[in-house]
Amino acid sequence: MFDLVLHNGTLVDGLGSPRRRADVGVSGGRVAALGDLSGADTAERIDVAGRIVAPGFVDIHAHSDFTVLSDPRARSAVRQGITTQVNGNCGMSPVPAPPGRGDEVRLAVKIVDPDDAVPGGWSTYADYAAALQAVRPAIHQAPMIGHVTLKVAAGGNRAGPATPDERAAMVRMLSEAFEAGAVGVSTGLMYPPAISADVAELEALGRTAAKYDRLFAAHMRNYNDRLIEAVEEVLAVARTTGCRLQVSHLAVAGRRNWGKVPQALELIDRARADGLDVATDIYPYVAGSANLSQLLPEWAQDGGTPQIVARLGEASVRRAILEDWRTSLFFGWDEVEIVLADPGMEDLIGLTVAQIGERYGTDPALAMLDLVRDTENRAVMVAYGRSEDDLRAVLSHPATSIGSDSLAMDPDGPSGIGRPHPRNFGCYPRFLGRYVRDGGIATLERAIAMSTSAAADRVGLRDRGRLVEGAAADIVVFDEATILDRATFEDPKQFPIGIDLVLVNGQVVVEGDRQHDDVRPGVVLGASSTPA
Ligand SMILES: [Zn+2]
Repeated sequence: MFDLVLHNGTLVDGLGSPRRRADVGVSGGRVAALGDLSGADTAERIDVAGRIVAPGFVDIHAHSDFTVLSDPRARSAVRQGITTQVNGNCGMSPVPAPPGRGDEVRLAVKIVDPDDAVPGGWSTYADYAAALQAVRPAIHQAPMIGHVTLKVAAGGNRAGPATPDERAAMVRMLSEAFEAGAVGVSTGLMYPPAISADVAELEALGRTAAKYDRLFAAHMRNYNDRLIEAVEEVLAVARTTGCRLQVSHLAVAGRRNWGKVPQALELIDRARADGLDVATDIYPYVAGSANLSQLLPEWAQDGGTPQIVARLGEASVRRAILEDWRTSLFFGWDEVEIVLADPGMEDLIGLTVAQIGERYGTDPALAMLDLVRDTENRAVMVAYGRSEDDLRAVLSHPATSIGSDSLAMDPDGPSGIGRPHPRNFGCYPRFLGRYVRDGGIATLERAIAMSTSAAADRVGLRDRGRLVEGAAADIVVFDEATILDRATFEDPKQFPIGIDLVLVNGQVVVEGDRQHDDVRPGVVLGASSTPA
């Protein structure tokens, strides 16, 4: 007797196997049987004729650490078919936050923490995981630990490499989180204070990840003029420490850098040929999103938000930034659009920095500096200026998973404020609709594997991301002919179309354009390997 049979669908198993006609029998939250179950005894039977039945998407690159606490329905994620999110990316996680460092940690990771009403107070990974489970998230959460957080926790948000004592403290806190189940460690080498980390610090993290067999996910030091050097740096860490490396969101910004992504992929290929466990991920858009302050020269970001803001009040520093930008700026101000600022600045949302300069009759560069200072570094941008060819090169690569770089958002609540990047609402349907069906970049079977098992395997979630007997019944049912994103840069808070059902641990969370708000079967998924 099954709890549920998905009847008459076309099964795409997430492992890359050719599609086949198979019913899916679900029992106790697991896939209990596959095949012809037309005569089987079941409590419920749903006809899914003409539809693809696939594993729910496993998002290897997410940032819902705080927003799932703000709204556990995870609407923008589950509506696009995501059933597991790997969080704590780009160096930013809520924990560890030892007593006395909580506020400083939270300020350092503000970009992924839009809802001030979310209570903090967790000190360790175990505390945080318990709080996360207590809100009953709609979808599974697999948190990683961030290097930015570890560094602030160990020594505060100050410039400079960690001291030996601080390094030891970071390793101790990371080990404790791994013991408690955290699935990986991530770097955020463009964000203060990780921006000033040295090799010894990265190797300490890499060695700890290798020891516990957890993922080392690298938001690298540079995604523009020095992309290649940045890839070489993290490959060297993997070579030295033996850690499993994920090169996060492989892309390059600035027209003068177009074409560097295939070069980076060659480096990754060579490392893989040498036996390194290296892979990468991307979202299918040619624009990224980050704090506006990410465009400042590195030296001007030292010390994090309080010092950035103070510095931008000094005329000599402002002059020095403008001087630095004469050669270092890789964006045009017309390619940088403001998507979040402070209350009272709503009229700036959707304008480029060039347009803001025009509006105030000032140099756009100065307008940018004012905006970072006046919002106390809360201004967020969408930055265009990537190439479609570079994107297609990553999407075509055998080591690529899809990772949305998104936050699970409530479009009507505090977690969805501003005009967020459309990837938050449309990443997977965009990939499957525009790039796979319409663009032919991969077979559907391969595309589903990139969105499911390939990601789950990177973080050791062996019973997720695949529809085989015994696996978790995390399932998405969609129409291959119509699945599509609707979220655009102009109007991002729109759910996709073409998805019929999303099941999490065998329970129906999404049915057409309706989400069952009280069905929240998600669990905090941890890793359990012991040190090698
Ligand atoms: Zn990142």
